[in-house]
Amino acid sequence: MARGNAKANAQEKNAKKNAGKKEAKSDLKARAAAFKASCPICAAQLINYNMMKVHYEAKHPKETCPPPPES
Ligand SMILES: [Zn+2]
Repeated sequence: MARGNAKANAQEKNAKKNAGKKEAKSDLKARAAAFKASCPICAAQLINYNMMKVHYEAKHPKETCPPPPES
């Protein structure tokens, strides 16, 4: 690989990194919006999967937490 190529690659990487940051943020927002759920056991409002996990561990330790939406 030529040195010029490496520089171009680095620039591309940087651009990708910046784009990825933006995307990840909006993606997270979209995912949070898409994740509208309530606990099937006690109907508590859960705004994201992490909350559901925590909720299950705290309130229903004997129940199995459903798998994450994207797995
Ligand atoms: Zn619950």
